[in-house]
Amino acid sequence: MSLVVVGSMAFDAIETPFGKSDKIIGGAGTYIAWCASNFTPVKQISVVGGDFPQAEMDELTARGVDLAGVQVKKDEKTFFWSGRYHMDMNSRDTLDTQLNVLENFQPVVPEAFQDCEFLMLGNLVPAVQRSVIEQLKNRPKLIVMDTMNFWMEIAMDDLKQTIAMVDMLLVNDSEARQLSGEYSLVKAAAKILTMGPKYLIIKKGEHGALLFHGKNVFFAPALPLEEVFDPTGAGDTFAGGFIGHLAKTKDLSFENMKTAIIYGSAMASFCVEKFGTQRLREITKTDIDNRLQEFVL
Ligand code: AMP
Repeated sequence: MSLVVVGSMAFDAIETPFGKSDKIIGGAGTYIAWCASNFTPVKQISVVGGDFPQAEMDELTARGVDLAGVQVKKDEKTFFWSGRYHMDMNSRDTLDTQLNVLENFQPVVPEAFQDCEFLMLGNLVPAVQRSVIEQLKNRPKLIVMDTMNFWMEIAMDDLKQTIAMVDMLLVNDSEARQLSGEYSLVKAAAKILTMGPKYLIIKKGEHGALLFHGKNVFFAPALPLEEVFDPTGAGDTFAGGFIGHLAKTKDLSFENMKTAIIYGSAMASFCVEKFGTQRLREITKTDIDNRLQEFVL
C-alpha cells in the first residue's frame, strides 16, 4: 500500500520579473515529494549527480520520503533547468536544459516499492516513465502521468506510447493543444481521451483546472493570489496534492477526484508564493487546512 513518485530531481535557475535565483533545488519529482508527503508517505524514484546536496536528501527522508529508488551517480552532474517568466507569469521560456544524469537514466524499482497502489509519473523522459510501469509486477490502482512540451518536441512517439499506458494525464492548456493539434480545449480533451487515459486534467495556471472523464467535466478555479512570486513547480505541486489526497483516502470516485483537485490547487497556491521549494518547506498542516477553507467558502 503506497504512493510511488517518479520525476526529475534538479538544480534550477529562475528569472521572474521580480527577481532571479541562483542555482536552487528543483525538479518535478522534488516538488511532488515535498507536497505529497503532507498527505502520505512517498517512495521516490529518480537520479541525481554527486553534486546534489546530501542535506536535501536528509530533509526529504525526515519528511517520510523513502529514497531507496533514487540513484546517486557520484561522478556525474544533476539535471539542470533554467527558465525565464514573462510579465504575465503564466508563460515562460526555457533558457537551458542540461539532461546530465537523466540522459542515460535506467530506473530500478526496489522490491519494497512493489506494493505501489498509486503511481505518480512526474515530468521525466517518457521511456523512463514507461520503464517504471513495466517493472511493476501488479498494476497500481491509479497511474497518473505529467509531461511537458519539451518531450513533445523531441520524443512525441515515445510520449504517446507512455500516455497509452496510464489512467490519467495531466497537462497544461498549451501542452493539450500541442499534443492534440486542436485549439478548442474541449476538442483537445476528446482527442486525448482516445489516446489511452480515462481521465484528463488540463491546468490553466491562474485560471484553474479542468477534469475530463467520459462526458463529465469539472472546473475548479485557482485561488486568486495578490502576488505570484515564482510559478516554477506549481504544476508538480498540484500533482502532489492531487495524488496525495487520493492515496490518503483511497477513494477513486469522480466526487473525490474533484476534492483532490481542490487540494492540488491549494498546494499549488503555496508553491508560487516564494522562489523554488521554499514555501513548501515552511507550511504546516494548519496552513493547509486554512487555505483549503478559503477555497471551500
Ligand atoms: P513546472 O513548473 O511544474 O512545469 O515544473 C518545473 C520543474 O520541472 C523544474 O523544477 C525543472 O527542474 C523541471 N523540469 C524542467 N524541464 C524538465 C524536463 N525536460 N524533464 C524533467 N523535468 C524538467
